[in-house]
Amino acid sequence: MAIQELLVKNLKVSFLTPEKELLAIRGISYELNRDETLAVVGESGCGKTVSALSILRLLEEPPGKIVSGEIFFDGKDLLKMSKKELQTYRGKDIAMIFQDPMTSMNPVLTIGEQIIETLLRHTSCSRKEAMNKTLKLLDQVEIPSPKEKLDQYPHQLSGGMRQRAMIAMALSCDPRILIADEPTTALDVLTQGQILYLLKKIKKETKMSILLITHDVGVVAEMARRVMVMYAGEIVESGPVREIFSSPRHPYTIGLMKSLPTLESTEEKFLKLNEMPGIVPSLSKIPSGCSFHPRCPSAETRCKIEKPIFKKIAEEYSVRCWLY
Ligand code: SF4
Repeated sequence: MAIQELLVKNLKVSFLTPEKELLAIRGISYELNRDETLAVVGESGCGKTVSALSILRLLEEPPGKIVSGEIFFDGKDLLKMSKKELQTYRGKDIAMIFQDPMTSMNPVLTIGEQIIETLLRHTSCSRKEAMNKTLKLLDQVEIPSPKEKLDQYPHQLSGGMRQRAMIAMALSCDPRILIADEPTTALDVLTQGQILYLLKKIKKETKMSILLITHDVGVVAEMARRVMVMYAGEIVESGPVREIFSSPRHPYTIGLMKSLPTLESTEEKFLKLNEMPGIVPSLSKIPSGCSFHPRCPSAETRCKIEKPIFKKIAEEYSVRCWLY
């Protein structure tokens, strides 16, 4: 039986604007199991990153605000902890990597200093032990000539090497959970493949759980066992990757899948997702009923009025659509 590592219950997050408070995450619930990779997929603006940042309360408050919900780790609600207590979990038990390492690494500290500093803050090791572990970590993420890289600044590394260094920093305290927010989006295709391979290799070695945020359905197929599809701040479909990829139920997921390139892809085929009318609604204009109804080819009158419930239709499989 799967062991739960993280449990999110009915999380709601809003943003305060001069006019009013806008709900960005509208009550999401899910669990992340030990030693699994769970992907969160959806277009930009669906709430993927906001929901991930909320786990460690990294949203800027204000304008961000966690309205309600519970996030359990080790039997404790992260949302009820003091900032000081939460600090003991951040970077240690739950680490995060971002799309652009330049925004999360300190530009005036060398790679080595940053990793050593993380180790000294969260563990009881000596400076010498921290230095040795840092070298091992750089080697683990396959950075060539780790000794030289130790003394380099983030801007002296290529995008791919910076991402590897950030992964090394995230892994420094042997986290149980790694939250990876679009970790390959800023990279070229070749480097993207190398980083995904590296994450898979490290996950196999460490047995950590990965919450992978991505807009790229191809990355989901490559990496995850389960996937949650988000639209307008809600989970609209979730289940095993294999099942969702072979027969997606929600019309939004079907649209996303059509964007996946195939061997016979033509230019027109690539454009099919764009043919789905409309765009992700802004927070101030979430449609009534099913939030996807203005774009949905299967929408009926009921969809415009009544909000569909998130219904379990099979083991590990749920969908939010009146068709099911
Ligand atoms: Fe489309 Fe209706 Fe299903 Fe929403 S509930 S996805 S509008 S069919």
